Amino acid sequence: MQTVAFWILLLIFLGAFAAQVARRVQLVAAAPNTFSLDRLGFRAGRFLLDVVLQRQTIRERPFTGLMHAFVFWGFVAFGGYTTVEFLYGLGIVDLTGARWFHAYRIALTPFAVAVLAGILYLLVRRAVVRPVALGPKLSIESMVIALFIATLMITFLLTFRLVEGSTAAHVNWWVHAVVILVFMALIPASKHLHLVLSPITVFLKSPELGNLPNLDFEKEQVGLETVKDLGSKSVLDAFTCVECGRCQVNCPAWGAGKELNPKTIVLQTQDALLAGDRGRKLGEVYSEKVLWQCTTCGACENQCPVGIEHLPILIGSRRGLVSNGDAPDYLGAMYNNLERRSNIWGLGYDQRTKFVQSAALETFDPARHDVLVWLGCAGSFDADFQKSLRSLFGILRAKDVKFGVLSKERCTGDPAKRTGNEYMYQELATGNIEDLKAAGPKTILTSCPHCVKTIGDDYKKFGYEVEIVHSSVYVEELLRSATASAEREVVTFHDPCYLGRYAGKVDEPRALLTRFGADIKEPERNRENPFCCGAGGGLLFADKEEEPGSRISDVRFKQLQATGANTVVTACPFCSIMLKGAQASAQADTQFVDLMTFVNGKLTKPS
Ligand code: SF4
Ligand code: SF4
Repeated sequence: MQTVAFWILLLIFLGAFAAQVARRVQLVAAAPNTFSLDRLGFRAGRFLLDVVLQRQTIRERPFTGLMHAFVFWGFVAFGGYTTVEFLYGLGIVDLTGARWFHAYRIALTPFAVAVLAGILYLLVRRAVVRPVALGPKLSIESMVIALFIATLMITFLLTFRLVEGSTAAHVNWWVHAVVILVFMALIPASKHLHLVLSPITVFLKSPELGNLPNLDFEKEQVGLETVKDLGSKSVLDAFTCVECGRCQVNCPAWGAGKELNPKTIVLQTQDALLAGDRGRKLGEVYSEKVLWQCTTCGACENQCPVGIEHLPILIGSRRGLVSNGDAPDYLGAMYNNLERRSNIWGLGYDQRTKFVQSAALETFDPARHDVLVWLGCAGSFDADFQKSLRSLFGILRAKDVKFGVLSKERCTGDPAKRTGNEYMYQELATGNIEDLKAAGPKTILTSCPHCVKTIGDDYKKFGYEVEIVHSSVYVEELLRSATASAEREVVTFHDPCYLGRYAGKVDEPRALLTRFGADIKEPERNRENPFCCGAGGGLLFADKEEEPGSRISDVRFKQLQATGANTVVTACPFCSIMLKGAQASAQADTQFVDLMTFVNGKLTKPS
């Protein structure tokens, strides 16, 4: 009788589970395939760290993350126990009396206590503490699931107290089993689907932050226009979101009071998919205004514990808008500059030539030069940043490094790519690749972190591979045995997103600063998780007066000011422009100095 009842219940709840899962599987299968399995070794290592060891979950919120990890590890540890009890309940085989099962049950006891402690902590956090990241609405579903998990652990622990075969033990067994069945049926329609999907999404997440495969124009690809264009990884991501809000609290746009919230983007994707309106425009699903507020800093997908990638959706949707002529006006002006003059400011090429001549730069020749210095738009045309480059040249010459530049450079195409103008990006990129191939450098050196990302990662998608190094990394190695003036100075260092987060280069700038007399006062949001300056994703050109909320650069400038250091060291031309603008608005007397200028000023040169 008990067996029949259990079979009936299992089939009902399994049916409910399967029907909901099938709907989601259908949606993933119908989406254009964007799954990729390159760099399997890297993916396996990350799986071990982020799924098995829960690194990402624990890293940002150590205590809460550990509590969550207890629940996860317990979930895995109880897999065998649940299987044995279900086999018994279904009358298939009774292994519950086996010695190994007894030992296994005892080994599960500390897991049960840890899961109970973890889930009660998470329940109190959600219901009483209510952090902003979790949203203003109390999720009843989460409360119910937490109570279910607590019930499972309590009923398991009671099996050690209750007399085998007694009515109480019988009732306890049924409560445990029915809670599992109901839990199973609730999972697919809730955020707890991440229990099943997150190992897959973490494994499938691109090894490259902000990975944006090229559009293939021959296949008439134009980016994401409607719900049906969302790629299979984005669809799977939408059903995996655990709504933890880590992306939200780390997003500089959200932090500065703008409408963009990366968590909302993922949940809107989920709602749009389940609503079944595959022809709905993504500009309506998310709102066009919101799509243009992203700086492409990468904080959202870098912080997400379940491998969700926001940038393919955000920039993919921008591509769809641009292909329909729906870019904001300020981008239209920048695109014009890129089209006519191949640089973001639309300045005449003679200005770069003048700088190249005045700095006595030679045209790169692989037979005579060790490295090719890539100037970038800022290095070619921004007088302020050219001072920094002159410092870099001074250091290279002091160490007898032979270097040259291209006789002609275009913008790498970074602002075109990140704002969704893929056609323009590909025009610029292929032209540069042709010139670089003809010049034949083995190593490219640049002071622009955006150029590092674009030439280093994006150009690979055209088959062009070259070592490209940011000046902070190159010079740190070059000057390991250099002597510096002895005086010390208190500074703070602003990690550029494309250097600290994208390239993971956080130790080299600090090593250089410390070696050359700086006592560094770290700002909040530093190293691999900096707060953006607000320039990325084409927002350098946005109309600041029309932006909702505060300016991202103002928020960052205040964080830097709060360190008490009067000198801010930067290592990216765009961070420098944005933060100096914020300093001017605040009428503060903070000094800004580029890393290369700081080092060159302190370097004891041979007389
Ligand atoms: S990339 Fe940065 S600005 Fe854009 S949504 Fe993510 S966190 Fe926000
Ligand atoms: S997208 Fe990732 S980080 Fe953001 S709320 Fe969902 S699970 Fe959390």
